[in-house]
Amino acid sequence: MTRSLQLPSAEDSFYYRNGRLTVDGVVLDAVIEKYGSPLYVYSGANIRKSYHAITGAMKELPLQVCYAVKANSNLHILKLLSSLGAGCDLVSYGEWYRAELAGVPRARRVLSGVAKTAKEFEALFKHEFAGVFSIHVESAMEFELLVLMANAMKRPVRVALRYNPDVDAGTLDKISTGRKQDKFGLTREEILDLAITYGDDDYVRIAGLSIHIGSQITSLGPYDRAFARLAELKLELEAHLDRELEYVDLGGGIGVCYQKERPISLPDYAKLVRKHFKKTPKILIEPGRSLLASAGALLSEVVYSKERIRNRTLILDAGMNDLVRPALYDAWHEIVPLEDRGVKPIRWDVVGGICESSDYFARNRKLAVEGLPGERVGILSSGAYGFSMSSTYNSRPRVAEVLVDRGKVRLIRKRESLKDLVRQER
Ligand code: PLP
Repeated sequence: MTRSLQLPSAEDSFYYRNGRLTVDGVVLDAVIEKYGSPLYVYSGANIRKSYHAITGAMKELPLQVCYAVKANSNLHILKLLSSLGAGCDLVSYGEWYRAELAGVPRARRVLSGVAKTAKEFEALFKHEFAGVFSIHVESAMEFELLVLMANAMKRPVRVALRYNPDVDAGTLDKISTGRKQDKFGLTREEILDLAITYGDDDYVRIAGLSIHIGSQITSLGPYDRAFARLAELKLELEAHLDRELEYVDLGGGIGVCYQKERPISLPDYAKLVRKHFKKTPKILIEPGRSLLASAGALLSEVVYSKERIRNRTLILDAGMNDLVRPALYDAWHEIVPLEDRGVKPIRWDVVGGICESSDYFARNRKLAVEGLPGERVGILSSGAYGFSMSSTYNSRPRVAEVLVDRGKVRLIRKRESLKDLVRQER
């Protein structure tokens, strides 16, 4: 079987059969009837295709994918990706706990994040984090704390220094992370200073360099510039340390098609990696969105519709608490009816029931729905940063998640109950 080296689209998995929207052939009306509305549904086949497209394009390279768990942290998704060979990029103790439960091998885990605490490091050195591949350090203070603790507890640890290369990723301001004004990573000077001061520490070994310049990147230029700066710094750092680094971690960021964006060519991305890091013993990448976005949809039912001065408003039972991307980033998600009834498309504002004007999914969007209570829609490409960014705002229990994989339909997260909402309150 030849595998595509292109990321699959949402339409590859969410398509109509006999007028009914399906996920890989499973009728979504039936899924909603069984598990209720709203809910997230994911295609295992789409996740597998994305993983194989990325690793296939980079197969000549000594690659380890460390999936960015923040994109979608459901245990079953972690298990699926881990079974394909992925490790994970973790940014909190909670994500560590999930990786532990999902059985992701520790040697394939890296720890990132700007605010790792002394308490977390203590757990690391005592036992829980033992065997982790590497810790990605984001500030001089964090490095110094790590040196202090590793020496006091006599525990060796490998680190990569996260470099902020001051490159604009050409994406939204709120998801750019590699410009000098962004809070992430260390400057070249800070990295070289740390190497001079701590380069031969007995317990903390500088094993690599990492970057992550932003998310939803749709051109190769920013990657080329960031990789060039990283390669240059790598040579300088190796000269200071008088040894080769074991690896570079190139972060995530590969963009997907939500509306009309053209994702980068994965073979061309691989070529760039080869150009800059031909001799590097190990290459890590941390894709999140590109593995999950097109695999997921948020399914929802119409509660009411009404006429406004300028537009008709379609009010759904899902809200910004379930999918915050439109409210937070003005993000565009394709919305389609679960049943194609041959209705003439008209323009709608599609909103949720939260008490905020920013609670919308689309504005002035042509949709083939009548606006009748109980009509159902799918909000596509919401597999990444969908459920994982959801909340219980307005005291709305979090929705259910369903995974359709290899012909099986599985509830992978139960809908929260009212009791779940108040469980921790005294
Ligand atoms: N790695 C790090 C350190 C990140 O902060 C993020 C996202 O914020 C990612 C990887 C994943 O990025 P993406 O989902 O765009 O691939």
